[in-house]
Amino acid sequence: MASPLCIRGGRILDPARGIDRVQDLWIVDGTIAGLGEDAPADVRSNRSAEVMQVPGSVICPGLVDIHVHLREPGQEEKETIESGTRAAARGGFTTVACMPNTTPPLDDRPRIEHVIRRAREAGHARVHPIAAVTRGQMGEALTEIEDLVQAGAVAVSDDGKPVRNAEIMRRALQLTRALGVPVIQHAEDPDLKGDGVMHEGWTSTRLGMKGIPDAAESVMVARDALLAELTGGHVHVAHVSAGRSVEIIRKAKARGIRMTAETAPHYLVLTDEAVEGFDPRTKMNPPLRSAKDRDALIEAIVDGTIDCLATDHAPHTEIEKDSDFDAAPFGIVGLETALGLYIKALVEPKHLSLSELILRITLNPLRVLGLPGGTLEAGQPADVTVFDPARRWTVRAAEFASMGRNTPFEGWELPGRVALTLLGGRVTYRAAALETSAR
Ligand SMILES: [Zn+2]
Repeated sequence: MASPLCIRGGRILDPARGIDRVQDLWIVDGTIAGLGEDAPADVRSNRSAEVMQVPGSVICPGLVDIHVHLREPGQEEKETIESGTRAAARGGFTTVACMPNTTPPLDDRPRIEHVIRRAREAGHARVHPIAAVTRGQMGEALTEIEDLVQAGAVAVSDDGKPVRNAEIMRRALQLTRALGVPVIQHAEDPDLKGDGVMHEGWTSTRLGMKGIPDAAESVMVARDALLAELTGGHVHVAHVSAGRSVEIIRKAKARGIRMTAETAPHYLVLTDEAVEGFDPRTKMNPPLRSAKDRDALIEAIVDGTIDCLATDHAPHTEIEKDSDFDAAPFGIVGLETALGLYIKALVEPKHLSLSELILRITLNPLRVLGLPGGTLEAGQPADVTVFDPARRWTVRAAEFASMGRNTPFEGWELPGRVALTLLGGRVTYRAAALETSAR
């Protein structure tokens, strides 16, 4: 047995098992050995054990982000698998699923294998690639979905764009149903979106900007609910932004349709009014919507209509994001601010308990992808996140591990500073202040 590691003095939150208590967490050989007295006696009495004191902190299963853009291959000036996963570790994430809209897209087996290999070499997080639905993400011919899933893809998506053709969506759902993976839809009607750059509403009218109506998202969600019903396939709706989409998803679930959904932190803490300063860092797709939409999203997170919370981490270079609003690309980075924003948006106003939040960023996203983990049960790989929910910190994009600095949250004071991230028992991030001692 290698020297055990003991994380001591923190509040263990393991919502998968309903655990919320102050206890020691014991780790041996990269695996959870047990909580407190439940850990084997020879582990607890081991004289070479290393002890980390984390009083006041929360100890929970490693965070999971179902929606990130790692940009590799082909857009390494924006992000690499190495830098993106380092950002993940810094944000408390141990598992991420990455979107296939790279250059070229992840639409064949060697590219899926390449992502898995590069992620393993970097060693900062578990990376599950999502394969393209259509070749080149061109929306015309399906990829070899079965082969890509066998190579390690956990879902298929043409994210960045929708699967526009309903017949292709139908066939993708039939195929993936048999394979047990979801089709993740970037729900958007391209004609309704047109060349809009922000939410269509009062603010876009006042600013004289081209708007994207909420219906651009909701009509596609409605269509996909019908196709999921027709095929029995599983549609996961990415980055839900509109109240009307939420209503459709809620009804679909009530009918027993296999539809799951995620949203991202910016839709909960900002509205379209943030665009008033024409800062390209407030430009994302789907766009920031109205206060009413924001409230509907929060309600849907609380009642479980929205299953899990993601980041849609979308790094761009400074040059791209420094252009004027119309010309700038859509998207912001999210991995290093997500936990703090979720606590601010959901836990501080008492919409969710901390435990309910953690469920939505650990077990629930893994369930959507049909993956194991998300608990601190003995025998599980020691993927662990430690953070101080009360400790406030200031967002400084210049300090991000991500190569992307495009955040609208520069200078914000957020709760929930990450102190320690462990991947299979190995430290992938540790705040400077955290010390270790021999027992
Ligand atoms: Zn998308």
